[in-house]
Amino acid sequence: MEIVLLGTGNPLPDPRRAGPASLVRAAGRDLLFDAGRGVLLRAAEIGIGAPRLDSVYLTHLHSDHLTDLNDLITTRWTLSFAPSPLEIYGPVGTAAVVDAILSSLAADIGYRMAHHRDLTEGPQALVTEVTPGTTIERGEVTIRVGATEHKPVHPSIGFRVQAADKSVVIAGDTLPCEGLDELCRSADAYVQTVLRADLVRNIGVPRFLDVLDYHSSVEQAAQTARRCGVDTLVLTHYIPSMAPGTEEEWLAPARAHFSGRVVLGDDLLTVSLD
Ligand SMILES: [Zn+2]
Ligand SMILES: [Zn+2]
Repeated sequence: MEIVLLGTGNPLPDPRRAGPASLVRAAGRDLLFDAGRGVLLRAAEIGIGAPRLDSVYLTHLHSDHLTDLNDLITTRWTLSFAPSPLEIYGPVGTAAVVDAILSSLAADIGYRMAHHRDLTEGPQALVTEVTPGTTIERGEVTIRVGATEHKPVHPSIGFRVQAADKSVVIAGDTLPCEGLDELCRSADAYVQTVLRADLVRNIGVPRFLDVLDYHSSVEQAAQTARRCGVDTLVLTHYIPSMAPGTEEEWLAPARAHFSGRVVLGDDLLTVSLD
């Protein structure tokens, strides 16, 4: 099993970091978690096109985590030569978002179907809304859904992917909470979106300060990793953006609370668990 970080950015555009997206490759399947800005560009860099994705999972419905879902839907449709519905799992509310995306694409769908005789039907998205406790089976891969804490974003969920004896948790945006601990228990890897509270406070702008109350800090992510007996903590979605040369400043607070492996995620970094 391996994790390829396709996007490690936050909502602010950063030419070095695509929007939030993590690919978990397990038992021959490519599972995509979140679909932030530029996800298909990064996927193309490792030779993966939209038709190849097994399924897509959304942790929550914040725009930075799904801006490019429309691109996934359209590109999979136009590059598939047989009907190939995109299977999307997400929290309650996902179906309405996907319906709205499809509605927004109505003109494009009409143009392409009029132009290409072999396109006899529009893009298909099969949405399954999942709740904490749900288990999803994809062949030899099992995905468990857990509750996370990102209010006022509600519901928000995390996923634990298990294949053979390896497991990885994709937490999404969340504070430490019981549901997250339950997902992370003894996981081989735990991918957490993080902020540096000290830097956010220094910025001092109210709209930035607001985010302090619904994201894990680096310290909190490390504490969750330690409490749950995780092997590898992977940090991503840095708030504020990690300035080049400050890597050690981000690692230090994690290492102060967690003695396992800490990985500072970068776009296209691969974390191998085998
Ligand atoms: Zn969010
Ligand atoms: Zn986010």
